[in-house]
Amino acid sequence: MQTRFSPEALADPDTASSEGVIRKCVHCGFCTATCPTYVLLGDELDSPRGRIYLIKDMLENDRVPSAEVVTHIDRCLSCLSCMTTCPSGVNYGHLVDHARHHINRTYRRPLPDRMIRWVLARVLPYPRRFRAAIALGRIARPLAGVFARSPALKPLGAMLALVPPVRRPAPATGPFTEPAPDPLRAATARGRVILLQGCAEPVLAPEIRAATQRVLARAGHEVVLAPGEGCCGALVHHMGQKAAALAAARRNIDAWQAVERAGPVAAILITTSGCGTSIKDYGFLLRDDPAYAARAAHYAALARDISEFLAETGLPAIAAPDRPLRVAYHAACSLQHGQTVTEAPRRLLANAGYTVVTPKEAHLCCGSAGVYNILQPDLANRIGQRKADNLDRLAADVIAAGNVGCAVQIGRRSKAPVVHTIELIDWAQGGPRPAAIPET
Ligand code: SF4
Ligand code: SF4
Repeated sequence: MQTRFSPEALADPDTASSEGVIRKCVHCGFCTATCPTYVLLGDELDSPRGRIYLIKDMLENDRVPSAEVVTHIDRCLSCLSCMTTCPSGVNYGHLVDHARHHINRTYRRPLPDRMIRWVLARVLPYPRRFRAAIALGRIARPLAGVFARSPALKPLGAMLALVPPVRRPAPATGPFTEPAPDPLRAATARGRVILLQGCAEPVLAPEIRAATQRVLARAGHEVVLAPGEGCCGALVHHMGQKAAALAAARRNIDAWQAVERAGPVAAILITTSGCGTSIKDYGFLLRDDPAYAARAAHYAALARDISEFLAETGLPAIAAPDRPLRVAYHAACSLQHGQTVTEAPRRLLANAGYTVVTPKEAHLCCGSAGVYNILQPDLANRIGQRKADNLDRLAADVIAAGNVGCAVQIGRRSKAPVVHTIELIDWAQGGPRPAAIPET
């Protein structure tokens, strides 16, 4: 695609990067067929190619975007399905991140939109605040339907509808005949790994971290949690708040470096794939910061999704269960498109004795997409229901996903329970039954 950026505009590194991205696009339109918003709405301006044109016009002219342009860009899920499809290697992810930053800097959103974004940025990345918000949300949940009827308050209604019910812990029983190995066996033979603590995941599903620690210990890895680490920054980055995203990345890099000073670290392991995509991009995010660029690239290269790491390093053999459970594997966009990790989770589940099945339209997003299901509740509902219907058609015993956001989004709509892939591996190894799976 031809561009007409001025030399002054190209002096800005983000604009120069975006110009390079735009110039790679050859208008072929292959990406439109795999874009969830184009598939649903059929509007070119809600397709990757249409958005690239809108972003090009906005950035080239350093224009304050119109409300219409903002609407089309806001509707993008950042699912990156278009990047998997694109034959020209267009890095749409970097382009839309820059566009969102430009919008955040230049466009004044309506007051309710500004308020909800302010709350999301100040609550979700902080586990203590998020936990308190969930407790309040449980009280206010009956009002979700009332808010949902007002266009301005719809995101508030969507937020309340997402508040999880209180769950009782599951008993430690499973369908597997082998005796359970000691889950707390200390093991350091294969070196140290940092396990990302995350922000939303430990609040919504603390069992995921517990299961991960057990699986890693059984496989001989020493698990370290980095003091001072926090949210990866993806939540604010996707709302265009670049300074906050950079601050989160720098804080995490400092925290990991402190751990590495005490001894070598084999990997930084991530159980929420949305965070993994963000951390693997720290090198790009901090490329112009002389104090952090090299360290950012180093830690980005150490980042691994838990399924990717376990598939690379191997797990102890597991005896086949009496009755293999049928698992529908939901590929989170951030894992399959953002990190191109596609086979590892399926292979791990199959090796653990599960029968793995794949839904129709597996390449399409579930509509969770960070805070998309709060900011764009109508579209997220339609996309989420389509995903849940496709998964339900498989009549699986359980759905596995590698991202807590997907689990919440799909779990509200599907007939089968949704758990993290690592919980099923843990269960197969003798760990407790995942809390979301009812006793039979
Ligand atoms: S990131 Fe997803 S929603 Fe956005 S343009 Fe690409 S395919 Fe469409
Ligand atoms: S597939 Fe790639 S090159 Fe083709 S229109 Fe989409 S972004 Fe442009």
